[in-house]
Amino acid sequence: MSSNTFYLQDVLTADQFHKTDLQLMLTVTKKMKKLVETKGGSDLLKGKLMTALFYEPSSRTFASFISAMQRLGGGFIPLQGVSYSSVAKGETLPDTVRTFGCYSDVVVLRHPEVGSAKIAAEFCEKPIINAGDGVGEHPSQALLDFFTISEHFGGVDGLTITMVGDLLNGRTIHSLSKLLSQYKNVTFNFVSPEILRLPSNLIKTFSDRGVKVTQSETLEEVLPRTDVLYVTRVQKERFTDLDLYEKLKYHYIITPQLLRQAKKTAVVMHPLPRVGEITPEVDLDPRAIYITEQMTNGMYVRMALLSLVLLKDYV
Ligand code: ASP
Repeated sequence: MSSNTFYLQDVLTADQFHKTDLQLMLTVTKKMKKLVETKGGSDLLKGKLMTALFYEPSSRTFASFISAMQRLGGGFIPLQGVSYSSVAKGETLPDTVRTFGCYSDVVVLRHPEVGSAKIAAEFCEKPIINAGDGVGEHPSQALLDFFTISEHFGGVDGLTITMVGDLLNGRTIHSLSKLLSQYKNVTFNFVSPEILRLPSNLIKTFSDRGVKVTQSETLEEVLPRTDVLYVTRVQKERFTDLDLYEKLKYHYIITPQLLRQAKKTAVVMHPLPRVGEITPEVDLDPRAIYITEQMTNGMYVRMALLSLVLLKDYV
C-alpha cells in the first residue's frame, strides 16, 4: 500500500506532483469512476465540508468540485462572484480564506492573480486547492487532462502533444505541460501567434529535462505527427487591448477539413469554454473527446483529489 502524499497538503502547482503521486491519482480516479458508474456515489466524505471560493467566473470547475463533494456525501459552501461581497468591502484574501478555513475542511480557490493560491495557503490552516490563479496555473485541470490522456492511450510515454492557441495566458497549458514534461520521451509542439508564445522559462525547463520541443505559428506541419491536439481559446480577459484580442481570437480554427490531416488515432482536447476555435461539426468526429471523456473525468479526478486531501487512510 502506498502512502497518501496528498493528505492535508495544499494543491498549488503541477510542479508539486511526482510520478508516484500521478500514479496514485490515476489509481484512485479509476476507483471513483467505477464507484459512480456502479453506485452513483458513497458516504466517504460524510462530515467533511468544502468551500468553493471563486473570484473569477467558472462553470465546469466550480460545478465539478461541487458534484465531486456531493457524490461522496460531503457538504459545500458555494461562493461565486466573491468580488461583490467581502473583497469589495476591502477584506483581504488572507482574512477571507482564514474565515472559510474556520468553517470548512478544504478551500478550493479561484482568483485572478498569479500566486494568490500560494498566499492563501500561507494564511489558511486548511488545505487550499488552486482552481486557477490568473494566468498562472490550474493543477486540477492538469490532473484531469493527464488522466484523460493516460486512460485513452494506456499511458503517456512516447506521445506527441501539440498545444495550440493562447499559450502565454492559458493556465491549463502551463500546468499540463509541466506534468507531462516529467516523461522524457514525450514530444511537445507549441503552436501560437508570436506574441502568445509559451513563457520562455517553461521552454527552458522542458529542454533542460530533455523533452523534445518545437515552437511554431502554423499547425499544418505538426498536425500529421500529433497524438493529442490540445486546443485553447485566446484569453480575452487577459487583454488590455481588445482590438488585439479581436485580431488574434480566430487565429486557429479547428474544422473537420483540417482534421483530415490528423492521425486516425489522434484525440482533440480543450479545457473549455470554446469560443469559436473548434467548430461544432468537429464534435461529431470520434477523435473529439473534450465533451465526452475529458469533461466526465473532471468530476472523477476531483473526487479522487478531495478524498486524498481529506482522508489520510483512504489508500
Ligand atoms: N476553463 C479553463 C480555465 O479556467 C480554460 C479557459 O478558461 O479557457 O483556465
